[in-house]
Amino acid sequence: MLYIFGIIVSLMCSSLAYGHGEVANSGQVFKEVEVTQNISMLQGKGGNIALVKGEQGLLLIDDDYKVNVGALEQFLQKKDAQPRFIINTHWHGDHTGGNAHLGEYVTIVAHDNVRKRLSMAQEIKLFGMKVEPSPASALPVVTFAESLSLHFNGQSLNVVHYPNGHTDGDSVVFFQPANVVHMGDHYFSGIFPFVDVENGGDVLGMAQNVAAIIKRLNPETKVIPGHGPLSSLDDLEAYHEMLVTTVAVVKKAIDKGLSLAEIVQQGLPEKWQAWGRGFINQDTWIKIIYSSLTKAG
Ligand SMILES: [Zn+2]
Repeated sequence: MLYIFGIIVSLMCSSLAYGHGEVANSGQVFKEVEVTQNISMLQGKGGNIALVKGEQGLLLIDDDYKVNVGALEQFLQKKDAQPRFIINTHWHGDHTGGNAHLGEYVTIVAHDNVRKRLSMAQEIKLFGMKVEPSPASALPVVTFAESLSLHFNGQSLNVVHYPNGHTDGDSVVFFQPANVVHMGDHYFSGIFPFVDVENGGDVLGMAQNVAAIIKRLNPETKVIPGHGPLSSLDDLEAYHEMLVTTVAVVKKAIDKGLSLAEIVQQGLPEKWQAWGRGFINQDTWIKIIYSSLTKAG
């Protein structure tokens, strides 16, 4: 009887560890790509997640879509360690959707503007998307203006805000000594990026920030993009060249007096057309550049 009681108590304890209300499992599969011995990249449906594992527990960078939080939680349970921290690279729902549920027992860390934007209704007109204010549990508990360091499982994570790039609240996370970086959505590997111009994003700011980030890296750095496969410094440099060149092409056309329709009609040099196979096609990328370069203020 005591034995059975023991089992019940231990079951209660294990469910207490993660026991924060039932949440449906969408069946989403998370593909785990090893980055170093205790850092991996998880690819689900949303932005790439970085997972740091070790004696102190688990740390995640971003947490996919809300609908997949049950599947993510089950995946993490198999790691036999308690999630302790989540760093959000920015506010978009494909990176913060798991916050509301996981935030009931995990400490969320992000830039001040992530908390601000998650607290209020948001809109991304480009995709006809309206986002309701998030519940309290989804909001970052620790916020910062410029940078913050987190020392966990033998790694120092330097979380650095880069202003007005993909949004107005982006962070990039540098891991030492692992020599890994999580770029958030400043980097879409091999494809045109989305830049949230309506919410403080800026194509020139993004190119400038990526150049500054590249200066902190070396040829051995493992680069985790916001979207796309695990990358190298070379891949990131190619992306930076794409940003600078395609923005310059659109700027030149605007300066010549061409309308948006005319610039879309003209298209981008052939070299860059393959980058339009992803989430953002060539026409949308031109529209984003145009809206960023012509926005007031
Ligand atoms: Zn994003």
